Amino acid sequence: MPQDDNPHLNPEDPHYEIECIRHSTAHIMAQAMTRLWPEIKLAFGPTIENGFYYDVQMEHTITPEDLETISKEMKKAIKENHKFEQKNLNKEEAIAFFKEHKQDFKIDQIEKLNLEEYSVYQQGEFTDLCSGPHVSYSKKCKHFKLMNISGAYFRGDESGEQLQRVYGTAWKTKEALEEHLHFLEEAKKRDHRKLGVELELFEFHSDISPGAAFWQPKGSVIWRLLSDKTIDFHIRNGYQEVRTPLIFNKKLWEKSGHWEHYQENMYKVPDPENDANTMAVKPMNCPGHMQMFGNKKRSYRELPLRLHDQSQLHRFERSGTLNGLIRVRSFCQDDAHIFLREEQIVEECKNVITMVARIYSIFDMSFRCVLSTRPTKMMGDPALWDKAEAALTEVLEVTKTEYKINEGDGAFYGPKIDFYVKDSLKREHQCATLQLDFQLPSPERFDLKYTDENNELKTPIVIHRALYGSFDRFIAILIEHYAGAFPLWLSPIQCRFIPVASRHIDHCYQLEKEFLKQGLRAEVDSSNETTGKKLRDGKMKKIPYLIVIGDKEIENNTLSWNQYGSDKKGNCHIEEFFNKIKPQQDIVY
Ligand code: ZN
Repeated sequence: MPQDDNPHLNPEDPHYEIECIRHSTAHIMAQAMTRLWPEIKLAFGPTIENGFYYDVQMEHTITPEDLETISKEMKKAIKENHKFEQKNLNKEEAIAFFKEHKQDFKIDQIEKLNLEEYSVYQQGEFTDLCSGPHVSYSKKCKHFKLMNISGAYFRGDESGEQLQRVYGTAWKTKEALEEHLHFLEEAKKRDHRKLGVELELFEFHSDISPGAAFWQPKGSVIWRLLSDKTIDFHIRNGYQEVRTPLIFNKKLWEKSGHWEHYQENMYKVPDPENDANTMAVKPMNCPGHMQMFGNKKRSYRELPLRLHDQSQLHRFERSGTLNGLIRVRSFCQDDAHIFLREEQIVEECKNVITMVARIYSIFDMSFRCVLSTRPTKMMGDPALWDKAEAALTEVLEVTKTEYKINEGDGAFYGPKIDFYVKDSLKREHQCATLQLDFQLPSPERFDLKYTDENNELKTPIVIHRALYGSFDRFIAILIEHYAGAFPLWLSPIQCRFIPVASRHIDHCYQLEKEFLKQGLRAEVDSSNETTGKKLRDGKMKKIPYLIVIGDKEIENNTLSWNQYGSDKKGNCHIEEFFNKIKPQQDIVY
């Protein structure tokens, strides 16, 4: 039984060594802090992703400057190269030992565990209650960095003792540590909330509409491009575009089951013509699409019937959980519902996966899938589940998609595939999703029917799916993926003209017109700044092409261009420039 929060790993586990290093570094930090503040009381010090923390209690409030002091003391202790030695104490001995050292939290843990024997680890003068495992000698813990300090409670209980938590990161090698710190630095620089403001893409006004982005003109360009291209892409793949109401009578939500299961996330609206009634803003499109399918007789010849909808959706999320564009209350999906027959599942899911693969290849992102199968509590015919799960597995196999199976993790109404997309910092984001649904079309809900070739009434299966997921969230991912330097086709402004002096401004506006005619998004920097300053500003805004226009350019009718993110620059005639950038100017999904 573990005596602290450290997971027990066996030496065969690929994470064994790094876990030992991280947990041992936590002990060394506790050792160093005990040297610096002998009255310190230690609580728990487990490993976490990429590192560790230790919860401590003392009068002194740990400051960021203290982290430096603690690190120095840790380095000293590591240099002393203590051996990590394990021994067992019986309960009496354990209590006596930690009483002598005034470690109340350890005693609390000993009492709570109530074991025959307790394992302790000692390195140098420092001993901690711990079941290990640990490194052999402290010199293996050289590559660490203390990161930050926060508040915590003993055993996470808010009514319990208040503690201070010190976080650190630890790695096997100097290179791995540096790579991790570089990653954190990059992630901070790329934060979409920061770049969104700097690049004038969107803004938030939490006082008037929390969790809902105001898309500025430049951000709206990205939005429109993604939206238009995906609609076009869907139509070419046999989908039909629809638009459905934002507000529905409660009876629709009762029918779909949302009133029962999802009400607390829905915005309710009074019905101005009937006080006894309630309306609600839609949190998803599905019920509206079920309504559309069910409103007329359907033949098997119409299937698969694919409805694509980019309506705005609203879900109540607690204000404390809102986070930039990642977690919002108002958003929009590239949502679609496919109505189909059982024997069409394989082919149809293959189409969806092919579309997902196409979309993410455009952004140079790879993805992997997780197939979630039936939970113990499920609805529908088990034979249908068997067939559907087999069909989804078959699709993942034939499309050679990287996937793993999460047994029992599906929704009760059908199995699903989640797509995890990897960005340029190798972070994974769940974006696309494909969910089979046996419930909504069933007689208990929307009672959808089609007539088959023998003129018999049959219930279709429904697939819910989205490729980006939500536009808002996907744009956040793209901003961070590209660090705000979008590829030419997606850049809100593709070219900016920089007149050297005010006498060159008119010519720049002439050029801007010609560029607009070519479908290029161009603008002129007509400010009174120096050329150098204008170039720096254009670079800060990550505009793909900055084009300087002075006397020479006007005289020879040429452009002097600078390409973002490279040392590439050149001088050429306008036609030549158009030809040069044409291949990257636009894309088709
Ligand atoms: Zn849906």
